[in-house]
Amino acid sequence: MNLVSCQLSSKEELTEGYPAYHGSDLGVTYTPQKTTFRVWAPPAESITLRIFDQGHEGNILETLEMKEDVQGTWILELEGDWKNRYYTYQATIDGKLMLEVPDPYAKAVGVNGDRGMIVDLTSTNPSGWETVDRPELESFADMVIWEIHVRDFSIHPSSGIENQGKYLAFTETGTRSPEGEKTGIDHLVELGITHVHLLPVFDYASVDETRLDEPQFNWGYDPKNYNTPEGSYATDPYDGNVRIREFKQMVQSLHNQGIRVIMDVVYNHMYDASAFAFENLVPGYYFRMNPDGTFSDGAGCGNETASDHTMMRKFMIESLKYWAQEYRIDGFRFDLMGLHDIETMNLIAEELHAIDPTIFLYGEGWTAGDTPLPEEDRAVKAHASQLKGVAVFSDDIRDAIRGPWWESEAPGFMAGQKGLEESIKFGVVASTKHPQINYPKVNYSDAPYADNPLQTITYVTCHDNPCLWDKILDTCTDCNRDNKMDLQKFANAIVLTSQGVPLLHAGEELVRTKYGEHNSYNLPDSINQLVWHNKYSYRDIFDYYRDLISLRKNHPAFRMSTTEMVQQHLKFFEINKPLVVGFHIGDNANNDRWKDILVFYNANAKDVTVDLPEGNWVIVATKYSIEETGSTVDGYNELQTGSTTIPDRSIMILVDRASI
Ligand code: CA
Repeated sequence: MNLVSCQLSSKEELTEGYPAYHGSDLGVTYTPQKTTFRVWAPPAESITLRIFDQGHEGNILETLEMKEDVQGTWILELEGDWKNRYYTYQATIDGKLMLEVPDPYAKAVGVNGDRGMIVDLTSTNPSGWETVDRPELESFADMVIWEIHVRDFSIHPSSGIENQGKYLAFTETGTRSPEGEKTGIDHLVELGITHVHLLPVFDYASVDETRLDEPQFNWGYDPKNYNTPEGSYATDPYDGNVRIREFKQMVQSLHNQGIRVIMDVVYNHMYDASAFAFENLVPGYYFRMNPDGTFSDGAGCGNETASDHTMMRKFMIESLKYWAQEYRIDGFRFDLMGLHDIETMNLIAEELHAIDPTIFLYGEGWTAGDTPLPEEDRAVKAHASQLKGVAVFSDDIRDAIRGPWWESEAPGFMAGQKGLEESIKFGVVASTKHPQINYPKVNYSDAPYADNPLQTITYVTCHDNPCLWDKILDTCTDCNRDNKMDLQKFANAIVLTSQGVPLLHAGEELVRTKYGEHNSYNLPDSINQLVWHNKYSYRDIFDYYRDLISLRKNHPAFRMSTTEMVQQHLKFFEINKPLVVGFHIGDNANNDRWKDILVFYNANAKDVTVDLPEGNWVIVATKYSIEETGSTVDGYNELQTGSTTIPDRSIMILVDRASI
């Protein structure tokens, strides 16, 4: 028995019947002298490797039979320089010729990801790639995430961007809207966000890369090749090198501007399980199956992968490490993370944090449908405290602020729905344990789930469901235009003054609308795109968001990193008025230069007067403006003592006079 077989766990022998391979050379290993192929396919009786001169069509250069090797792998070595040639595998299993597929580990592919490409990765590095480090990040508490789709970012002509809809759009500085407002990457710097969260940018299936002259759109939650960038965002989807180089240029440019890059990863299902690589090399292994042999569908997309199977777990870990190292990705957002098991997520966190402890991991702590994965093993929100170094989205504060996701017209706190005050408070402390929260009254969770505030993503909207403006239109039905604009500020004023890691849906600062569409995953640009003209039209909203982010960055009291610190410094007021939440962050919390900070949220459609603690207080934020040295807006420039009046539908922040 050799070392490799000693490492086999009883679990995989019992449940899968296949030997696991523990080496790190699955896929293609390229040198100018030889290329080595290794693929794991224990049930195969034979595997044919074909080499092509192009990524599609073209000529077959070689047809070769692979050799069976250790631990269920098959291997082939080709002498000579095979750079930029394309390849596929075709297995025979149980006497049946399976589909010809790309390598699941392929690091480069041709158009539409149908063939792998032998790539010399060093030749894909843009100039200067070696000299740019990840931007500084002291604490996850300092993050402000901005969630964007590559195409939406730049496809509208008012972006002033040349490479519309492409990775390269993120490399263009100095771009302006027709009205002269900063767009693109300059806009991000002006806004002050720290992380760009990209909707899927791995190779996905639903956009035909051979027809890019026709209008096509998809969010991309339909994985085809996990380890290569999507081709439709590259200037040339045919040459496998181009998408890699341009993706790196995007990361390099964002890093140069001090912005980190997060990838949305979708390891929980594949677009077409039966047709893709996994299932044609090891049928039934990488996916959870029903007893009748059909695919289980916990993802709501026709299949779900099995992270708890040794070789799927290994695949996920190696894939993530590859993106973190080769592309210098700074964070990963796990789609339907509840379909992954806790052990896998913790191994992922361990491995990635060994590369760099500032890589940020978070996910959707739920599933889309039922799954055979036992409840206690699921990486769901309620199990967050068992996840070490992985955060979860708080749908609690999201739906408390805006209203429930399943009914567009149902209002939330912002639009005057009573009874959500405890849910707002739960969000303010980022789902941690706090003695002043009445947990049974929280909308979705009857107990705290985050070990610390940095395990919670605080947000009000993302790409799913209505965007903020559309939800305001649906729920603030007796509002005038000014009232609606107040809510556009109010919703994220709550987010950005709450503990946790804030996430903004791109374009909220531009009053983005999707014209009432919710699940816009395949709708045209006209629905999904950012319209940069809006920046001029709604400049006051943009300024407000920019100033809120700046306030948060300047004041660590809003960015506490431990539950104990929050418990010690943040006290809620007993306010016996509906639709009002108030709290005091005291004693220079988290070394804030402000000693005492009072924060109030008034969701009433009228002004409300609240009592203040003893002392003289300076207003630093109202719905009209954020002014950290004291408001100069009419009527808000006087010291407040005893009580103060908060305007309708807005936040107010006051600071003790001595701190200003
Ligand atoms: Ca694709």
